[in-house]
Amino acid sequence: MKTIMKKIDEKNMDMQVIQEAGEILKNGGLVAFPTETVYGLGANALDEEAAKKTYAAKGRPSDNPLIVHIAEVQALEKIVDNVSREAEVLAARFWPGPLTMIFKKSGIVPYGTTGGLETVAVRMPSNKIARELILAAGGYVSAPSANTSGRPSPTTAAHVMDDMDGKIEMILDGGSAEIGLESTIVDMTAEPPMILRPGAITADMLEQVIGYVSIDETVLGIESDKAPKAPGMKYRHYAPKARLMIVEGNIREEVLAIRQLAFDAIQKGKHVGIIASAETIGYYSNGIIKNIGSRENEKTIARNLYAVLREFDEEQVDEIYSESFALAGIGNAIMNRLEKAAGHLRISASAVIKRQKYRRIVFVSATDTCTGPMAAEMLRQKKLYQEYVIDSRGMVVLFPEPVNQKAEAVMKSARMSMTEHKAAAFTSADYGTGILVLTMDRGQKEKIIAEYGDEGNVFTLCEYVGEDEEILSLHGKPLTEYGKRLELLSKLIDKLTEKLNKAAEEGSMENV
Ligand code: AMP
Ligand code: MG
Repeated sequence: MKTIMKKIDEKNMDMQVIQEAGEILKNGGLVAFPTETVYGLGANALDEEAAKKTYAAKGRPSDNPLIVHIAEVQALEKIVDNVSREAEVLAARFWPGPLTMIFKKSGIVPYGTTGGLETVAVRMPSNKIARELILAAGGYVSAPSANTSGRPSPTTAAHVMDDMDGKIEMILDGGSAEIGLESTIVDMTAEPPMILRPGAITADMLEQVIGYVSIDETVLGIESDKAPKAPGMKYRHYAPKARLMIVEGNIREEVLAIRQLAFDAIQKGKHVGIIASAETIGYYSNGIIKNIGSRENEKTIARNLYAVLREFDEEQVDEIYSESFALAGIGNAIMNRLEKAAGHLRISASAVIKRQKYRRIVFVSATDTCTGPMAAEMLRQKKLYQEYVIDSRGMVVLFPEPVNQKAEAVMKSARMSMTEHKAAAFTSADYGTGILVLTMDRGQKEKIIAEYGDEGNVFTLCEYVGEDEEILSLHGKPLTEYGKRLELLSKLIDKLTEKLNKAAEEGSMENV
């Protein structure tokens, strides 16, 4: 089957295209169309055969019912048995919009559409293209999300094309979905009404109108033996191909932990994706880092979530680490989808970073122009099991001088360079918890301890790796001495690497 894509402008609709799409639906065909939540895969909701085609195109288990979309409130009567006073009030307040309500179905709704259930889910979308299409199709359009079952829902026509090309008659391209997450589903046959799937209409918003609503416990990611009340919620869903893990803690911990997890995975040769926010993106450096939106305005996160997950699929990452987001407002729906996409894989950020005794290593020499920067650069070249910020500092630095030329020359001969380096003085910012300070001689160590106190994190480099030597200044010495220094450092940095990696290995734990 050839899938036709037609652009359509919500503000200036080409009614001929709508009519054409409506005819396809009336004749039992499938048309994907934009709604304010995600793109829907439309079919005639009152046609059992059309429902079968929908399941086939999505590869969806047929016990997972479809939502029937209507364009006018009056249309409700014909397909449901009874509309409660509360449902009327909710419809008046939130329709058209991202709210789906479940009612007892009437006889004309086929079991094919409801997945064999006696109830039917109904929504009136606000997107104008969707509404005109529903009218043109006869008033009742079943429309699950237009993705292959299990994949992230589509928020653009291009996403739909990726999944549905050759399987459906037409796609209406009306631009990006405004909300980006599926509708809130409320079961109005329960007493009190029960939220089966969180969405842009939050529990608070519903309660302001009808009082207390309950929430299906399986929605909140609470481990539960019970099956979710919305059959679709039981499947691993909204999921990218990569293993997605949610890292939980405060923001600072999450960033540190994700940096470390990404570092570990990259060391193992994996392609890594990171879901960061506008506020944190600058703190990452390894992996494919994506800005999912702003924590200040979580609507932006909702809008981008699925697109980001799909992009990671295209970039073929093996693992994705995501920050977690606040549960307020639409955040609840965001975390619900993320959790499902992750198959409930969660990692405690503090557990990951607890194993890191040191996160930064500072080599201290007299002037920070020779041995110190050499040691730092040599350590940076090593395969370390943990991520460290590696720096060098000097005890007496008056100007940001470049490195000594002889030092640069011997480093070059070993295919390393320090041309970027500028000498910097040791300050209080270089001392403290999590920082390993390695000096070249004992005098430097004693001076630092005298000035900043002894937290047990200052050593001479030789002492730290178990060597009984002292590294002295090369000032005024010939090039051959620099060559020997390189050899000595090479031995010491090998030992240091071994020691650090052993500690990382011992401290490392199963991450999940
Ligand atoms: P989608 O159409 O892809 O947004 O998925 C529709 C969701 O609504 C699925 O999770 C379904 O299980 C749920 N749903 C549809 N009809 C019912 C119903 N009658 N009772 C409970 N859940 C329903
Ligand atoms: Mg879906």
